[in-house]
Amino acid sequence: MFARLAVNIPAISGIFDYTVPDELTPHLQAGCLVTAPFGNQTVQGIVVELTDSSPIQNLKPILDLLDPAPLLTPPQIALAIRLAETTLNPLSAMVGMMIPTGLSQQADVQYAVINHQFQASDAAIQKRLLALLNERGALRGRQIDSHFARVDWRKTANTLVKRGVLSAKNVLPAPRVRPKQIRMAQLAVTPEAAELEMSSLGSTKQTQARRESALRFLIQQPEPINLSWVYAQTGCNISDLQELEERGLIRLFENEIFRDPLEKVEKQDPTKALALTPEQGNALTAILSAFQDRPSAFLLYGVTGSGKTEIYLRAVEEILKKGKQAIILVPEIALTPQAVRRFVTRFPGQVGLVHSKLSEGERYDTWRRARNGKLNVIIGARSALFSPLPNLGLIVVDECHDSSYYQSEPPYYNAVTAAQEYAKLCGAVCVMGSATPTVEQRHEAEQDRMRMLALPKRVTDSVLPPVQVVDMREELKNGNRGVFSRALAESLAEVLSRGEQAIVYLNRRGTSTYIFCRDCGTTLKCPKCDTPLTLHVERLTSSAQQLLCHRCGYSRQKPKTCPTCASNQIREYGLGSERVEAEVKAMFPQARTLRWDWDTTRQKDAHEIILTHFANHHADILVGTQMLAKGLDLPLVTLVGIVLADVGLNLPDPFANEKVFQTLTQVAGRAGRSARGGKVIMQTFAPEHYALQFAAGHDVDGFYQRELDYRRQLGYPPFANLARLEYRSADPLKAEEEARKMADRLKVKLEAEGRRQTELIGPVPCFFAKENGEYRWQVVLRGPDPASILRELRFNDWRIEIDPINIL
Ligand code: ADP
Ligand code: ZN
Ligand code: ZN
Repeated sequence: MFARLAVNIPAISGIFDYTVPDELTPHLQAGCLVTAPFGNQTVQGIVVELTDSSPIQNLKPILDLLDPAPLLTPPQIALAIRLAETTLNPLSAMVGMMIPTGLSQQADVQYAVINHQFQASDAAIQKRLLALLNERGALRGRQIDSHFARVDWRKTANTLVKRGVLSAKNVLPAPRVRPKQIRMAQLAVTPEAAELEMSSLGSTKQTQARRESALRFLIQQPEPINLSWVYAQTGCNISDLQELEERGLIRLFENEIFRDPLEKVEKQDPTKALALTPEQGNALTAILSAFQDRPSAFLLYGVTGSGKTEIYLRAVEEILKKGKQAIILVPEIALTPQAVRRFVTRFPGQVGLVHSKLSEGERYDTWRRARNGKLNVIIGARSALFSPLPNLGLIVVDECHDSSYYQSEPPYYNAVTAAQEYAKLCGAVCVMGSATPTVEQRHEAEQDRMRMLALPKRVTDSVLPPVQVVDMREELKNGNRGVFSRALAESLAEVLSRGEQAIVYLNRRGTSTYIFCRDCGTTLKCPKCDTPLTLHVERLTSSAQQLLCHRCGYSRQKPKTCPTCASNQIREYGLGSERVEAEVKAMFPQARTLRWDWDTTRQKDAHEIILTHFANHHADILVGTQMLAKGLDLPLVTLVGIVLADVGLNLPDPFANEKVFQTLTQVAGRAGRSARGGKVIMQTFAPEHYALQFAAGHDVDGFYQRELDYRRQLGYPPFANLARLEYRSADPLKAEEEARKMADRLKVKLEAEGRRQTELIGPVPCFFAKENGEYRWQVVLRGPDPASILRELRFNDWRIEIDPINIL
């Protein structure tokens, strides 16, 4: 038998053949983690396939099987291969996404004495090591470490292995949860399963009583709960809980994994079934019938508050009845607390959360429980897609337009398209939901590659709030040079006097970057290709500010006056949230403000703290650059002010308008969800721009039609595909030179292959010209299938993105 391995070495792509030693033959399956020789090192690898033959001679054998259970399911292997093909990432990188971080570090070497006759030399390390192993039996490297503080015993061990004194075996130990850090407990099975074991929990009356009371208590608590609370309520102790955990009934873990800041604000009885609206009913029926007949993909297109989450919940309920599992992808757990909470309470004991605050041990633990079929619902961001559920029946991608589904670091991939692929490979149904699906997603639905289910109305009577567009050029003409228009200032004052709350929103993307005239609104554009010119940050000197076109490389000095109206009010655009907060404070000294941006959310639990604070009315005005949490029903918020709605519109990127439209529509949808009503004020220097116009009218369909035309005219996705090749170097000349060489190389190839429909854009510096001290240059290919041009080439040090979500 032969095994084909994806080896776990970052720079190595491709699959390598090995022979399988006889003793491993009965145990080895596709998806298993093994060790194997590679060059002169020993590496880990995943068995991608077992075969009867190999075209290659003199193959080396696999060394060890690290875990008897496969790490990847067959559909996962198929997905990894498919993603490697379509994204041009190495297969090992895609496989790496599917096994928990730190798992390879969890692997260890176990040593045992096999030649007991051997006389240890006088070397102290050798003596101590053999004495230890003789006394304790086989030990793993990390266990031995604890006996040898700062002594390199491994060299000695390896010598002894070579001489046949010790055996060495690669192993993957089970994850440990360190007891002193246990803080939380949660039911790990369904309440029914827990009831079945209720009568046999302890040998004495007292232990039975304590454990029973603890278990009964945890059945009542669908969410993780602090241990001290369990002790206080039930009189049990830690060993009772550990016994319950040993029996698989409950779970003990380290962190408070999830806290809902709005817990006290709204509480819906999870057992009380809502009667679906007719629209919800139709959508659910379509999804359920796909469970029966043919698995397919759906685009659930519905405004915020139209009841999408309720449909996801019902669909999950049905798939669980069929004995299958579900994955729910959300943009970020901390930003979707209410939605996540609804799943956790609806399916007690069956939900696993995957998010960035889990420790490596917890992540590994959740992953193992998913693999063993102990979890039926996984909720999490992007990477939750890769949980090894054995019988997946449903994938939900909530807020499927959200850019966080795209991993913008190598290995680049898009979790939304990956979810669609994966559902097909599993025979599962994929439901993608959004109020503002991307142009490409909608286009896909129109091409019948996905079925569109529309929920055009909010469930409750509330209507979408009216949006008032304020032309900031008029404000300037009237002598108002401040951040706030008179309309917004007056509305803020009214909100404060009524004791209500307001959100002041600031788009953080693309501030201080392009150049425009504050008097007439003219944006300086490239004379050759009409792309907005941008201030080139890295070339910025005090005397001569360079403006640059990121499409064609055209550059010029920043003019002193506006070419249209000769005004000297020509400025770069944008301002920061600190400045906005300061202006609010200056204008309303009595108001309590709260700032929610990248700076204030870096510390742990920041999202929750800020949200709780605001939800409990400990602040009146929230100044934020973060997208506000989904499903955030804040009844006191009656005003949303958007400081500069057009920020981001003029970025040199084909997706810029869509991004701004989505953000504005989402932000505007947050106001006025209670009986108090509400409104949105959108300040802008470009009130006539179609993205703002459509957002102000909540006209998603109108925007889609217009944007689709624009993409068609300019030949951007979905009418062509993009590939971006990016080079980074600390040396700007080197980055430029490499980019030129690459462009030349690709030009020759395009010519040679007669690819007349594929266009090469660049080389140009990227819009964000410098990152982490490195200069970025790029070449973009646009055409029917740019990936096919790049597939057989080798790119050392280049970052390749297929279907990037921006080219900035
Ligand atoms: P979305 O996910 O589209 O934003 P949700 O599913 O969160 O919408 O629904 C919005 C609100 O309406 C929630 O508070 C939810 O509990 C409630 N809701 C949903 N469906 C119904 C229904 N059929 N009847 C009454 N209330 C509903
Ligand atoms: Zn002007
Ligand atoms: Zn240009």
